[in-house]
Amino acid sequence: MNAKIVVLPGDGIGPEVTAAAIQVLEAIAEKFGHSFEFDEQLIGGIGIDEAGSSLPDATLAAAKSADAILLGAVGGYKWDDPDATDRPEKGLLKIRKELGLFANLRPVKIHPDLASASPLKAEKLEGVDLLVIRELTGGLYFGESKRWTDADGEEHAYNTMVYSASEIRRIVDLAFKAAQGRRGKLSSIDKANVLDVMRLWRKVVMESAEDYPDVEVEHVLVDAATMHLLNRPASFDVMVAGNMFGDIITDEASMLPGSMGNLPSASLGSDNNRLGHPRGLYEPIHGSAPDIAGQGIANPLGTIMSAAMLLRHSFGLEAEAAAIEAAVDATLSAGHRTGDLAHGDETALNTQQMTEKVLSFL
Ligand code: NAD
Repeated sequence: MNAKIVVLPGDGIGPEVTAAAIQVLEAIAEKFGHSFEFDEQLIGGIGIDEAGSSLPDATLAAAKSADAILLGAVGGYKWDDPDATDRPEKGLLKIRKELGLFANLRPVKIHPDLASASPLKAEKLEGVDLLVIRELTGGLYFGESKRWTDADGEEHAYNTMVYSASEIRRIVDLAFKAAQGRRGKLSSIDKANVLDVMRLWRKVVMESAEDYPDVEVEHVLVDAATMHLLNRPASFDVMVAGNMFGDIITDEASMLPGSMGNLPSASLGSDNNRLGHPRGLYEPIHGSAPDIAGQGIANPLGTIMSAAMLLRHSFGLEAEAAAIEAAVDATLSAGHRTGDLAHGDETALNTQQMTEKVLSFL
């Protein structure tokens, strides 16, 4: 396969972790006989500094013609001025919107040797292997909003949560398909007992379920879901939620492993690339970690695992994706740790050393 990957290293540790993932992708290309072309572009703070925009036109154009996009992270102290007209995060929101990336996928799996890093007891974590799918371009964060002050000087504000049936159906369909490829269970998160918009959500899930008789569906109220995630996390396979509930659930789920350095994510839309697969954007769930940037000690595994998701979802290369995941698993099983994972007298490897361990298991 010949494929083009636009790489957006961004700020802070972004360039360090994307460089690690590129090494792994190059090794996969060689091992499986593919050719990947990497096109590096600006985003975030470095985009503001070097091209005057957190999402330069050239970056957006390159992303639109790419087969997939790999992103590091954006942001940092330097661009934190609250009065600034452009901010690094603006570039990220804009590229997601411009590419119509309506689905955010965050798989959460806990390596047994890292269970002690979790805030939960080890026995609660046994068998945890879940995928949270969050709607990313609708709902409360994109509905009409307003702030005003009335005649008595009292301030008011509102936001609205709006979904159309078709917006719900496309994300729910994606979630059902994901469940079919996993353990066959879908937990739909809503608030149908209170909100009209969530009653529509549940109706669409129930209608779509008829097309996927092999998937077991449960409807879980969002407040209960936050409890079950702590109490019985292993009972979840695929969870699907609207934008705001998904925002909360994905962050809660990402704390289960105790460290976010290992966790990947994918954002997918309905536009297909030249290869007939969704043109996705793949990034670790962590930020730019300005406190450790430039030291070469960042954990690269979240970005390497994001590269595995890229191969699976945007290129349809399942065996290659699984090979990366197995190599990461073997690296952790062999006891190799970066600073964020090392405890007690465990040696902390730097980014490049950790990457080389993964490469050795490939
Ligand atoms: P962060 O995720 O960058 O860092 C939180 C803590 O985790 C820090 O102590 C950091 O050193 C550590 N950490 C994060 N990733 C790590 C890794 N791979 N290896 C080792 N340690 C790691 O979150 P923050 O400190 O709240 O935010 C820093 C900046 O990142 C802010 O400007 C924020 O806006 C931005 N941010 C960007 C994204 C993104 O690009 N998608 C996401 C979250 C935050």
